[in-house]
Amino acid sequence: MLILHDAVTVVRADGTEGPADVVVSQGRVAAVTAPGAGGSAAQSLAPDEPVERLSVAGCVLTPGLVNAHHHLLQTAFRTLPGTRGVPMRDWLPTMAAAYAAVGVDPESTGIAARAGLAEALLSGVTTVADHHLTWPAGADSVGMARATADAALSLGARLVFVRGTARDAAGPAAESAEAIVEALLPGASGGVTADGLLQVAVGPAGVHSDGRETFELLGEVAARHGLRRRTQANEQVDVEIAAERYGRRPLDLLEEWGWLAPDVTIAHLCAVTDAEIDRLTAAGVTATHAPGCDVPMGWGVAPVARLLAAGIRVGLGTSGGGSNDAGHLLADARLAMQVSGLVGPQLPARTALEMATAGSADGLGRPDLGRIAVGAAADIAAWDVTGAADAGVADPVAGLLWASPGRRPRHVLVAGRPVVEDGRLTSADERAIVRDLEDLLRRRTGGS
Ligand SMILES: [Zn+2]
Repeated sequence: MLILHDAVTVVRADGTEGPADVVVSQGRVAAVTAPGAGGSAAQSLAPDEPVERLSVAGCVLTPGLVNAHHHLLQTAFRTLPGTRGVPMRDWLPTMAAAYAAVGVDPESTGIAARAGLAEALLSGVTTVADHHLTWPAGADSVGMARATADAALSLGARLVFVRGTARDAAGPAAESAEAIVEALLPGASGGVTADGLLQVAVGPAGVHSDGRETFELLGEVAARHGLRRRTQANEQVDVEIAAERYGRRPLDLLEEWGWLAPDVTIAHLCAVTDAEIDRLTAAGVTATHAPGCDVPMGWGVAPVARLLAAGIRVGLGTSGGGSNDAGHLLADARLAMQVSGLVGPQLPARTALEMATAGSADGLGRPDLGRIAVGAAADIAAWDVTGAADAGVADPVAGLLWASPGRRPRHVLVAGRPVVEDGRLTSADERAIVRDLEDLLRRRTGGS
């Protein structure tokens, strides 16, 4: 039993806010009480359980953030020369050459993921959906998935490993997805381990890179195991290639290939028409907004307010280090607010925060995540709002997003376990994680 006490305010799933104690037991939120009443609540819930207390004085408590769209491998390839200010057609081969130079295998995948996941936890992200798209011919795909899962497990993060494809042969990709499910989720149902810490999903990169057979075969794996499906659509190149190759719009193809459905989440969705938004709503699709990738890549701004108004659940993702050099989801929630006014009404801070938490979780089929409510997973971030950058802030929840870009939380819990305390990882040395990645890159690319 753990009691978080003295919060400035707690952002709760029912929309209420205010000072409160949060009582955590067995990985879940057991009670949210009036300030000072956590102790007696803990006593009546489980009189025999030992009680620990953690002061969160000066902090706003939010659910742990859920990054619905990341490519953790790209953590090793940030600010790569030749990938900025260039069209996607040039970006793709430059990234591919960098992957080939380093070599993508279980070791490099695991070390890059560990750095990306450390960054996630240190910035208040407790769940990361890693859409892994790079599978060299003959790669040990189960080993790569397992290395990513081990990285998450060792740091205490929640992981959704998305077995992606990008021009992979359809049959072997589906076989690999099947093998990854069996290796990572033995005996699990619905694509999630019993403790909820590890989930597997499938996800072709998009109609620009993968054909009908890949979508269909991965769809079959998903149906067999109850996995969520994830893809990307309407980045610029996606629209261009769909027009060139098929004379169609990406969403037409996804619909025809069985991928407009309630278990599917589509990332990016720039430049969708009103008629397309209606089709997405009718299909029950969920979406992931990724402005930290879309804006620097020049793809435009997804019409998030229109998607939300149409009843579509929208989450938030950073995408990978190859386009968005940061994995800081709260910073991207701020960016989402900043650019929203270019394509519609400005998103309010609480809407952006909701996208980064429950919105992302719902797209993953995880109503247990992304909210502070009794029974929900105790994934919680405590953000200190007492520093100079927060001085004069009238609304601490709006200030959380608008003020102090790049802020880091003081404490982070995943399943009730502290994974960040006083701004430091509890289970690893941040510097050692960085060193391991730098050593790997030096070793693999022939540097000294
Ligand atoms: Zn992406």
